[in-house]
Amino acid sequence: MLTVYNTMTRKKEEFHPLRAGEVSIYCCGVTPYNDPHIGNARPFVTWDVIRRFLARKGFAVRYIQNFTDVDDKIIGAANREGVTWKEISDRYIAAYFKAMDALNVRRADVFPRVSETMEDILRMIETLIARGYAYATAAGDVYYRVEAFSRYGCLSGRSLEDMEAGARVEVNETKENPMDFALWKAAKPGEPSWKSPWGKGRPGWHIECSAMSVKYLGDAFDFHGGGSDLIFPHHENEIAQAEPCIDGDEKFARYWLHNGFITIDNEKMSKSKNNFFTVKDILKEFPGEVIRFFILQTHYRSPLDFSDERLREAQTALDRLRKANAVVAELTQREGTADTGAELAAQAETFLRDFDAAMDDDFNTALAISQMFGLAKEINRYHQELERGAAFDAANFGRAADAYHAMAAIIGIFEQEEAPADDGLTDALMDLIIGIRQEARAAKNWAVADKIRDGLKEAGVVLEDTTTGVRWKRA
Ligand SMILES: [Zn+2]
Repeated sequence: MLTVYNTMTRKKEEFHPLRAGEVSIYCCGVTPYNDPHIGNARPFVTWDVIRRFLARKGFAVRYIQNFTDVDDKIIGAANREGVTWKEISDRYIAAYFKAMDALNVRRADVFPRVSETMEDILRMIETLIARGYAYATAAGDVYYRVEAFSRYGCLSGRSLEDMEAGARVEVNETKENPMDFALWKAAKPGEPSWKSPWGKGRPGWHIECSAMSVKYLGDAFDFHGGGSDLIFPHHENEIAQAEPCIDGDEKFARYWLHNGFITIDNEKMSKSKNNFFTVKDILKEFPGEVIRFFILQTHYRSPLDFSDERLREAQTALDRLRKANAVVAELTQREGTADTGAELAAQAETFLRDFDAAMDDDFNTALAISQMFGLAKEINRYHQELERGAAFDAANFGRAADAYHAMAAIIGIFEQEEAPADDGLTDALMDLIIGIRQEARAAKNWAVADKIRDGLKEAGVVLEDTTTGVRWKRA
């Protein structure tokens, strides 16, 4: 039985899907105005594993993740560079995919964008106004009326009075209550805008996720995810916006899952502290699989401390699993009818059962991975017995191999070709080698020039003479 920690009820609950055999998930995506950082990556790696696990349990999983492609930060970046907001968002959506592909995060079923969901957003705002939950001002802004929604604060566990007491006093006479938030912002010069019943403008941040999740998953769906920094105000506001628009009894997200923060050397990540790490930069030193594995070695709700040292430890640990995987790959090719693997097969099934139990306990990947290490150790032990002369038991070893593969497929490792981290060294060395060969040729030292060409060919590198010089490529 799967249990999950639901932020809404602040306790672990048994998971019962809304529709038998199906699971629907909405996770807040990125605002594409810069390269994704390690903190951005955590929810997406986490939900990738959850999707894999739910699929193996037999659920048909539908997963939606948005791009906030209309936003102050995008408009700011566009103005600084003198390009359109669309150029910025397209560029960093591409950067998002590149980084997540490297982390072996599979694509969402739909990636809705604000700019492509405007009709649905406008319709939801109109409904909120019609039902008394929002009001337009003379300036053409539309605000959400927090006092109209009695459940406001249900997710974050705060009362409206507490929020008002803690809020900075904002001089905005057009708002009925300082906690009221923008659903629609009247157009300002130099900003992208869309037509609306209240004049040209653009949506506030929160409304998009209410509109997109309901559009693609229906009035109610199973999971809503995101970082714990989104609980208030973003997710609180999503609930306040969506629920009044839904007529049925089942309203909006049923289980709210939030992942913990990432700290850098035990400090909060921030650009001002210069400890802000993009996935792109980390990939220069570590393969994507190591970064993924590092994230999953900690339970998603716990804080995760990032440092070079922790990443190196993750790399060493992953290498141990990888070595056992090489043993599995080698031995599954071998034939043998001895009866030496019954104990290994039984152990493998126990490890897999405990792996699944850990995942069923609020997706505890940390504990699940420890079961994988347990099986890796037994596989290595069996391999050593074979090397000492024991006869091979292909049938039972196959059962252990299946269990090991099943675990790897949930964690999402051993799926990428083992490519070394590209720190630019390969290019630098190739430039040097090609330069030496050119000098040898210029000096008519054909023996050295040919030796370099043949040596590279043997290493799988082909040289091509082009009009702009010599280029190299992997054969
Ligand atoms: Zn969102």
